Amino acid sequence: MNLDALYQDVILDHYKHPQNKKLNATYDAQVHHVNPSCGDEITLNLSLSGGVVTDISWDGVGCSISQASVSIMSDLLKGKTIDQAEAISEKFLHLMQSKGSEKGDEDALEDAVALAGVSKYPARIKCALLGWMAFKDASVQAQ
Ligand code: ZN
Repeated sequence: MNLDALYQDVILDHYKHPQNKKLNATYDAQVHHVNPSCGDEITLNLSLSGGVVTDISWDGVGCSISQASVSIMSDLLKGKTIDQAEAISEKFLHLMQSKGSEKGDEDALEDAVALAGVSKYPARIKCALLGWMAFKDASVQAQ
């Protein structure tokens, strides 16, 4: 199996079996973000405690890239400190801006490196970033 096929499997697996896709009733901040160019929408609930991301839950509709990316992000950032979560988000943003020239830091980004190929398609980058931007917005509101 080549790397692209493997990455495709990671994305499809998160799309079909999304992590944390059930809005938790208690939260410190709730945001709703849309990507009108594709029709992707997510609502994200975030809980913080003592500078740590204690919970990320979400619900949404949209393309496989947007929904898989939110699932990956929620799994990856839950349990991290806000500083760690911001550093990981910066790495992901950098990867999405790499125009296909970078593979991503797998130690920090884990499953999110599966989205590296999206950076070659400018129209899809907003899909991949939707959940990460929602997290950033929510983390500012929750602090
Ligand atoms: Zn999309």
